[in-house]
Amino acid sequence: MSPEAPVQTVLACSQCGRTFPHSDLVQIAGNRVCAECKPAFLSRMMASGAASASPLGWRYGGFWIRFGARFIDGLIFMVPVVILVAVLMPNLIRARGQAPVVPNPAFAAGFLTFFVVFFLAGACYEILMLKYRSGTLGKMACGLKVIRSDGRSLSWGVCFGRFFMWNVVTSGIPYINSILVLVSSIMLGVDNEKRALHDRVCDTRVIYKQSVA
Ligand SMILES: [Zn+2]
Repeated sequence: MSPEAPVQTVLACSQCGRTFPHSDLVQIAGNRVCAECKPAFLSRMMASGAASASPLGWRYGGFWIRFGARFIDGLIFMVPVVILVAVLMPNLIRARGQAPVVPNPAFAAGFLTFFVVFFLAGACYEILMLKYRSGTLGKMACGLKVIRSDGRSLSWGVCFGRFFMWNVVTSGIPYINSILVLVSSIMLGVDNEKRALHDRVCDTRVIYKQSVA
């Protein structure tokens, strides 16, 4: 590594989408804007009322409403799980009962299959809902939607990335997840745009649907 060539972070302008070195972008109300887009952006910001929390008048979803949305999604997912367990458990217990001392491969395979199916179903649910409805049923019920920082809806890549960041990186790794979920929640709580860790990584915002012009 040569100290003469420091890595210059290249970032996208939130308005035109072109990439610039970090130093060529100004940050206005949490949006990175290039020199060319700055005048138009500022006048738009003034027109929408500079006093509002965001230049576009968005109201961001805070910790508790988002916690509530995740809780509702959790409940929705518990219903098929409870049914599945009720159907499978007698078989699994019977399979286990045949060989109580050595670990039963049938039991392990059943558990693994269940876990994989559960995870994939969760992934499909969240990614498809984000793509086509801008939010899961829980978020929809709480009046929230997920958008990009520039107001666009999410691309497939962002939907997948957001699912992966929250479910695998932040809350999926045993032991580390308790720390990461806490850190992510604090980030969300103190941020003026209510960005959790996955929102920062994926450049997404969770806002109230009614606050979109
Ligand atoms: Zn620009």
